[in-house]
Amino acid sequence: MPRACFALLLVSFLAACAPDAQESSGAPSGRPPNFIVFFADDLGWGDLGSYGAPVIRTPHLDRMAAEGQRWTNFYVTASVCSPSRAGLLTGRLPVRNGLYGDQVRVLFPDFVGGIQDEEITLAEALRDVGYATGMFGKWHLGDGPRYLPTRHGFDYWFGIPYSNDMMSTLPREERRAAFLDPKIEYWDVPLIRSERDGAGEIVTETLEQPADQTTITKRYAEEAVDFIRAHRDEPFFVYVPHSMPHVPLFRAPGFENHSGAGLYGDVIEEIDWSVGRILDTLEEEGIAGNTVVFFSSDNGPWTAFRTQGGLAGPLREGKGMTWDGGMRVPGLFWWPGTIAPEVVTKEIGSTSDLFATFVGMAGGAVPDDRPMDSFDLAPVLRGSGEGPREEVPFYRGSELYAYRVGNYKAHFVTEGEYGLAGGRQEHDPPLLYDLSVDVGEQWTIATEQPEALARVTARAAQHLAGVEVAPSQFDLRTGG
Ligand code: MG
Repeated sequence: MPRACFALLLVSFLAACAPDAQESSGAPSGRPPNFIVFFADDLGWGDLGSYGAPVIRTPHLDRMAAEGQRWTNFYVTASVCSPSRAGLLTGRLPVRNGLYGDQVRVLFPDFVGGIQDEEITLAEALRDVGYATGMFGKWHLGDGPRYLPTRHGFDYWFGIPYSNDMMSTLPREERRAAFLDPKIEYWDVPLIRSERDGAGEIVTETLEQPADQTTITKRYAEEAVDFIRAHRDEPFFVYVPHSMPHVPLFRAPGFENHSGAGLYGDVIEEIDWSVGRILDTLEEEGIAGNTVVFFSSDNGPWTAFRTQGGLAGPLREGKGMTWDGGMRVPGLFWWPGTIAPEVVTKEIGSTSDLFATFVGMAGGAVPDDRPMDSFDLAPVLRGSGEGPREEVPFYRGSELYAYRVGNYKAHFVTEGEYGLAGGRQEHDPPLLYDLSVDVGEQWTIATEQPEALARVTARAAQHLAGVEVAPSQFDLRTGG
C-alpha cells in the first residue's frame, strides 16, 4: 500500500476512534468549531449600534447581532484591563490567580509579576486538543519573557505587551494634554512578534518602537486574516484584543472623520471594519459555518477622558468601578447555522464562561484540579436550554464590592472611577438594586426588600467562603 494511502486510512481510523466531535460541537464539517474572540479595550456597553449608540455606525457588529445572539447581561471579571484579561483567558476570577492588585490595579512595564505557569489559559486548553492558536493585539498579563503569550498557549503573537498609553516620553505634567492631540512618539510602546520556530524555540522580536498606533487596528486585523487563511484546514483559536479604543486614540487615515462622532467614533468604526474584514474572510474561505465569533470589551468606558471615552448607555458610571457601567459589556455571539439569528438574551454571562463554553465545544477538558469560575453557555447559544449562571461577583482588587444574584445586585462598598482619587464608601446596610426595573442602579430598595437583601448578602458570603485569595502579582513591583 502506498504510504499516502496508509496515512489516509490511519487518519480515518483515528477520526473514527476520536470522541464524536460532530455530536459534541454541532460542527457541520465534522470537526470542532474555530473560535474568534474580539476583545476591545475600554469600549462601553452603549457604543455599538445594536446596543443603542445613536451616531456611531457599526454595521458589521450589528450584523453579528442580527444573525446571532446579543447578550444584554454580559459581564467581565474586573473593571480594568489586566485582571479582566486574566478572567477571560483563565476562566477564573483574578483573585484566585493573583492577577489583580490592591496597590496598583494593572500591570505596568517591567513589573516583576505576571501570569503564572500553573495557570491554564484558554489557548493552552484548546492547543491541547489540536487547535492552532494566534493572538493579535494587547496582552497585559506581564511583559517579562516568561509571561508572554507564546509561553502561555499561543503559537503566534503580534501585538503590544501592555496598554497603549504606557512608556510615556513626556514629562508628567504634559501627559494629560497629550491625549487631546496624540502623536505616536509620545508613547514608546513596542510592537512585538513572537512565535515558535521550526525547532520549537520561541523567537521574539520587537518590530517597532514606538509602535505606529495609527495603523495598529488595521494591522491586527490583517495579521489575523493571514493566520486564518493559513490555518483554514485545522481548528483554530484567534484572539483579537484590540488596543483601541483605550486612549490615546488613533485610527488609520481612511477613518479620519469617518464617523460623525469625533475621534472616538472613528476608532469604533475602524474596529467595526476589522470585524467585517474577518467575517468576510471566514466566508471567502468557506468556514463561517464552522466558526464561533465573539465580541466584547474588557471593561466599561473611561469616562474620565470625557469625549475621548465611550458611553455605557443606560448603565451607571464606567471603567474602574463596580457599578454596572464598569463591568457590564457588549456580548455578541455569531455562528451561522448553529446560533439562531436575532436572539436577544437576558441570561447572565461572563467572559470567564468562554473557557468552559469553548473548551466544551472543542472536546477538551476543563481543569478539575482547581476552582473555576466558568459556566458552559452552550445551551443558551444553541437555544436548547437556560443559562447556568445566576450570580456575578464584582471585585475591586482583592475585595468584593458588590454581588449580583438574579436581578438583584447589592453594593457593600462603592468607590470612584479609575484614575481619579478616593471616594470609597462602605454601605451598611448595603445598597440594593433590582436591575430588571432599574438598570441604571439609581433607586436603592434595601429597606423595602430586606429579604432580597439578606438573600444576596448570604450568597455573597457563601461565595467568599469558597475563594482563597492568591497573593497579588501586581503589588510585587519593586519600584515605579
Ligand atoms: Mg481596558
